[in-house]
Amino acid sequence: MFMKGLINESDIMYGWNGQILRVNLSEGKIAVQKYDAEFAKKFLGGRGFAAKILWDELQPGLDPFSPENKLVLAAGPLTGIPGPSSGKLVVASKSPLTGGYGDGNIGTMAAVHMRKAGYDAVVIEGKAEKPVYLCVENEKVSINSAEGLWGQTTFDAERKIKEVHGRNVGVITIGPAGENLVRYATIVSQEGRAGGRPGIGAVMGSKNLKAVVFKGTKEVSLAEPEAYRKLVTECYNDIKSSQGYGFWIRQGTMMTIEWCNENSVLPTNNFKEGIFEYYRCIDGYSLEAMKLKRRGCPNCNMQCGNVVIDLEGRESELDYENVAMLGSNIGINQLGKVAVLNRMADELGLDTISLGNTLGFAMEATEKGLLKDGIEWGDFEKAKSLVEDIAYRRGLGDLLAEGVMHLSQKIGGGSERWAMHVKGLEISAYDCHTVPGMALAFATSPIGAHHKDAWVISWEVKTDREGYTQQKVDKVIEFQRIRGGMFECLVSCRLPWIELGFKLERYPKLLKAATGLTFTLEELTSVLGDRVYALIRAFWIREKQTWSRSYDYPPARWFEEPLTKGPYAGKRLDKERFDELLSMYYEARGWDNRGIPRKSTFEKLGLTEVASTLEKYVSLSD
Ligand code: SF4
Repeated sequence: MFMKGLINESDIMYGWNGQILRVNLSEGKIAVQKYDAEFAKKFLGGRGFAAKILWDELQPGLDPFSPENKLVLAAGPLTGIPGPSSGKLVVASKSPLTGGYGDGNIGTMAAVHMRKAGYDAVVIEGKAEKPVYLCVENEKVSINSAEGLWGQTTFDAERKIKEVHGRNVGVITIGPAGENLVRYATIVSQEGRAGGRPGIGAVMGSKNLKAVVFKGTKEVSLAEPEAYRKLVTECYNDIKSSQGYGFWIRQGTMMTIEWCNENSVLPTNNFKEGIFEYYRCIDGYSLEAMKLKRRGCPNCNMQCGNVVIDLEGRESELDYENVAMLGSNIGINQLGKVAVLNRMADELGLDTISLGNTLGFAMEATEKGLLKDGIEWGDFEKAKSLVEDIAYRRGLGDLLAEGVMHLSQKIGGGSERWAMHVKGLEISAYDCHTVPGMALAFATSPIGAHHKDAWVISWEVKTDREGYTQQKVDKVIEFQRIRGGMFECLVSCRLPWIELGFKLERYPKLLKAATGLTFTLEELTSVLGDRVYALIRAFWIREKQTWSRSYDYPPARWFEEPLTKGPYAGKRLDKERFDELLSMYYEARGWDNRGIPRKSTFEKLGLTEVASTLEKYVSLSD
């Protein structure tokens, strides 16, 4: 299965293919770009590659829906070769939701086939005249008409593509939401895997690109194939024999509903409260009673996609985030109903977290008289019709398709105080009235309020929960380095580590066997992670030339409106102390008190040229 050999004669690389596929849809041009080992070592893959390409190649201020915006699909050096939870792909672009850097990762056979086709990344620019899909079969790359696919759901489009290209392909596609430029449209694969929360699916739609199909038949060259194979077997065994494996297989992330409710952090009614009186109706045990099977990403032996039959008799793949956001956050207390909304979102290509936020916001706006003919809390039938209206931008759905930040700017009435987003990205499913560390993690996440970079909440509730301490700042940064740095650049799933205690020390060993290069864990986290963070921050600052620390604040609700229910009733975040926490965070990162990396920080991270460019837009502290 593993080949030993060279990819580029002039540049010995194992693990990486050393090639980026370039596609210009306006001109119909296709090219292959080689990159060197220095680039590979410095940015590793995934988010690292995407951030560097977008920083270098995008003109600041461009419209995310313009042909000049670029869509980057980027894998890592372990993608496509068997390894724990390594079948993922980063999808990135300038976000139409936030106006800043946006990315997400998606578990898909497309990641595996892209690498086996000989590419580590694909960069797509321009706009096709008519709807098309891209087909990559090793060296054979074609831009094909998507007539007959445009308008189809993500499930149907993938099915149709497989009828033409066979089942042994990897497909990523958008649904009607992406076609209609819904600002939180995602990219979907395999009827339930989704990625690109900050509207990366809408960027695809703006390019008239319905899908990308990969079929790769080559093998990625490895430096030490036998050592790699042995290591991988040990890794899979570690995961399977871990203490929590049995329960994980039963509930996966759905166990978090009960945990969040017990700890008063389950988002309820647009993050007004942290407990939901009907949580038992949507928790992991309710799931077990309905569960049909498990699904998940390629190369994963702890698959977390829980498939149930929804109220309409269709399969729906549930996890914690989508159930909390389409359940407790909007007052829906039946898992079968949540499953319907979730399946519709996947079919239409809508991000479930942003959708749950937007519906919750609309329900509160209706209650407060700011939306006429809106929607009441828990109104399942109306929610169903609104989900479709959002994807097709019909009526009120057209307004809701803009996402919470834009929506609140349009309806006014003080709604910005309970518009639950950071930097324009709607908040993932953790209420932060009583957990300042998690609020800081959301506030400083490089794509806006997403949990993937620093899920510190589990640690936080077990320690000095309500404290504003240096220890919390350090933990947020430690997690951002591991999760947002190493895992997003490797494009490996963080869940084996965070959920089942899989040892981080395994990753430098896997990398050594795959690439032949020695990386310490420190280099993968505090060097690579900090470099990528500084680069992404530079991207944001170049875009938002009025940059100030106000961009790094959680929503006013958590400071102004205490919880009213449960053991933490009366509690809320303290604004002054949060501000101190933010200053401590900046200091620890080597950023100034505006949240802008210092010149010396850029230099230390090997980003001197980034500092020089950024200085044209904003003054840098030494
Ligand atoms: S644990 Fe879940 S998200 Fe992670 S790789 Fe496995 S299936 Fe994918």
